[in-house]
Amino acid sequence: MSEPIDSIAEYCDRWCERCAFTDRCSAFAVQAAIAMCDGDVEAAIELAVGQPQPDDNSPKPVPPGQRWMDEALAHITEDEVDQARRDEQLRDERIDDTPLKTASIEYSVLAHRWLRDQEQALPAVSAPRSALEIIRWDNALIGAKLHRALSGFNLSQELRNDDPVENDWNGSAKLTLLLLGRTAAAWRVVIHHTDDADAKRLLEAAERLTSLLEAQFPNAMKFRRPGFDA
Ligand code: SF4
Repeated sequence: MSEPIDSIAEYCDRWCERCAFTDRCSAFAVQAAIAMCDGDVEAAIELAVGQPQPDDNSPKPVPPGQRWMDEALAHITEDEVDQARRDEQLRDERIDDTPLKTASIEYSVLAHRWLRDQEQALPAVSAPRSALEIIRWDNALIGAKLHRALSGFNLSQELRNDDPVENDWNGSAKLTLLLLGRTAAAWRVVIHHTDDADAKRLLEAAERLTSLLEAQFPNAMKFRRPGFDA
């Protein structure tokens, strides 16, 4: 395996069979090893990233920040854990009420129904399968990545400790925008081949979602994804 790229799998589309970075991706190596080890995750991690150091009972060097983290965790009470859970639930409820999340759910449900209902009929009118594959693949990711972006953004508004560009929510928003751009192109191919009225509405829904996302995350496209944008 070539030199791995840190965190490359955090902002990719997970379409490994089409990825140029499989030899530099630890997530791919573990995934491939899991398949080779018949689902034994422990054995797979060992195969992908090597054996753990033997435990000789000698004191181990403490990684930077680990001591601080251990001490902080030791002082967290059950009440604080419960409060953190309630805060997270409230954040999720606030996100669910936003026009962006509503538009995302609407697009996802309608696209899923369209794929389910229409896919069988499309070969007769020669819609390229690659366009359908892209729409299906991206639809499985768009909602999850958008939720991660919104959730991280909301948390950062409370903590106010993130870099304005190089942060996880901006990276997740950028990936969602890239997926939406590719999906919109795929819908145009479908429309070109089928003139399907519902496909046109779904293209409009994807474009509306893109506009809302760009307005909420104006710096998203400035984020540099490890590996892909280096
Ligand atoms: S970076 Fe490439 S190889 Fe790694 S998980 Fe993403 S798509 Fe797969």
